[in-house]
Amino acid sequence: MGDSNSFMQALKENNKEIMSQINKVDLHNHASYSCRLDYLVNNNINIENEKVSNIESLIQFSRKYITPVKQTEQGLYLLLYGNFMNCINTGVSFVSTDIDYKDCIRTFDSDVSKFIDFLSQFKYDKLKIEWIIEISRDSYKEEYKDIIMEMINSGFFAGIDLVSTENSIPNSMFVDFYKEANKLDLKTKVHAGEQLGADYVRECILDFNPKEIQHGISIIEDESIMNIAKERNIVFNVCPTSNLVLGYVDSIEKHPIKKMYEYGLKVTIATDDLLYFNSDINDEYLKLYSNKVLDAKELDNIRENGIYYCERS
Ligand SMILES: [Zn+2]
Repeated sequence: MGDSNSFMQALKENNKEIMSQINKVDLHNHASYSCRLDYLVNNNINIENEKVSNIESLIQFSRKYITPVKQTEQGLYLLLYGNFMNCINTGVSFVSTDIDYKDCIRTFDSDVSKFIDFLSQFKYDKLKIEWIIEISRDSYKEEYKDIIMEMINSGFFAGIDLVSTENSIPNSMFVDFYKEANKLDLKTKVHAGEQLGADYVRECILDFNPKEIQHGISIIEDESIMNIAKERNIVFNVCPTSNLVLGYVDSIEKHPIKKMYEYGLKVTIATDDLLYFNSDINDEYLKLYSNKVLDAKELDNIRENGIYYCERS
């Protein structure tokens, strides 16, 4: 209860310092894109001031500046370390973070045990890290199937998550991964309902039987699909600033998280890619509060529910 009172007070006072001391989770975080931009610049990564304002500019930024950094072990370390330091500094005690399986191919010569050894070195008293295998629809090829399956069955990764352009490749290409991961009771996540409408969210629910949906904001278009999500206890990890910057919502004031929460869907508030959106977990809560999307009690309830979802797992 102490945490709740302090959290609500800090929201009302716009006090990030106090918020940073209060326990939170971040369940939608991409490992290599979640450090701060100035941290990279301070570490001599040359980044010109390019603005990310839609999905195309995000991909361009990522390819130009981040992919080359990720290609060495030291570079990947720098990106991940920056992410986790930021989690700790903002009061995130549990992060569920997506790591691209292609990093294993590119940087560790497809050696899954070397990759796992590398990731295992990130251990902190104040932060629990859950690693999720990120599978990009856009770059997927059949030849990667074996290594992804090896990772799913390694016992190290907590789950899988399908990302990037929704429906660019039919869901049928990825169904086997979800079958396997669900069989092992891993966290099955899918990015859906960010770019496409509620029908695609339904398709993903029926095709993959996921435990969590990343974004999922277009689900509010269709109550019947919200009912399916409710019945299946699906958790939606929602990132308001990401949606705004990439143009999937018109404003924070009108963000669908309000309707999702009020309808009784399980939602959490998360950051997506701090590097591109420059909005940490406390900023996300503060924006929803100051734009009167949700009140302090509701935001605290979402914060506490997130902790509960993680403790349960
Ligand atoms: Zn995402």
